[in-house]
Amino acid sequence: KRFDKTPYPVKPTDVVCPHFLELKWAYGCPFDCSWCYLKGTFRFRPEGIEPAYKPLKKVKLHVETFVHEVKTPEILNTGEIADSLMGENEDCPFSKFIVSLFEEQNRHKVLFVTKSTNVRNLLEIASPRQVIVSFSLNAKPVAEKWEKKAPSVGKRIEAARKLSEAGYEVRIRIDPMVPIEEWRESYIELIDEIFLKSIPERITLGSLRGLQSTING
Ligand code: SF4
Repeated sequence: KRFDKTPYPVKPTDVVCPHFLELKWAYGCPFDCSWCYLKGTFRFRPEGIEPAYKPLKKVKLHVETFVHEVKTPEILNTGEIADSLMGENEDCPFSKFIVSLFEEQNRHKVLFVTKSTNVRNLLEIASPRQVIVSFSLNAKPVAEKWEKKAPSVGKRIEAARKLSEAGYEVRIRIDPMVPIEEWRESYIELIDEIFLKSIPERITLGSLRGLQSTING
């Protein structure tokens, strides 16, 4: 059945694993964070986590079928096996392509999950109603050490502010939180910086975790 592997938590110590559906439009990510679980997911892929894209015609067909046939509201996550904004410099930017499909209806929403600051195309879309954008952030010392290829945390917060002001539902993920020395001060500083710029609709916290294959890699 659909959510057999992610049951609702019963005891306080159970893992909370929110249910979501994946919209698989691409594979990989250019940012190469040290703990990236994609290294485990794609361990048998010769190109590793190097980005690759599915034909948009195929994605369009699948999305259109889904939005017409599924009657209960769903959120489709485009950032589980790829960074949602890694295709913004392609001939047909993914954001414009996918948002146009979701804005044709009002039942389902599309979720972007990203560390990118390339929000130029999203800012050109007027009145987005069916879109959620979630930025992954971390304490600065953590990001500087282990998210070396991703844009700086300050730039990500600025991109979140721009989208929030443009009317997007913007969420924040602080994931994975890392128990560095002075973690308390570093994470308080992050929270202060987030709220100084805008108020996220939701903040999700994640712990440091990994498949053994990711850890080995
Ligand atoms: S941004 Fe996310 S998907 Fe991309 S390398 Fe970092 S952890 Fe992996």
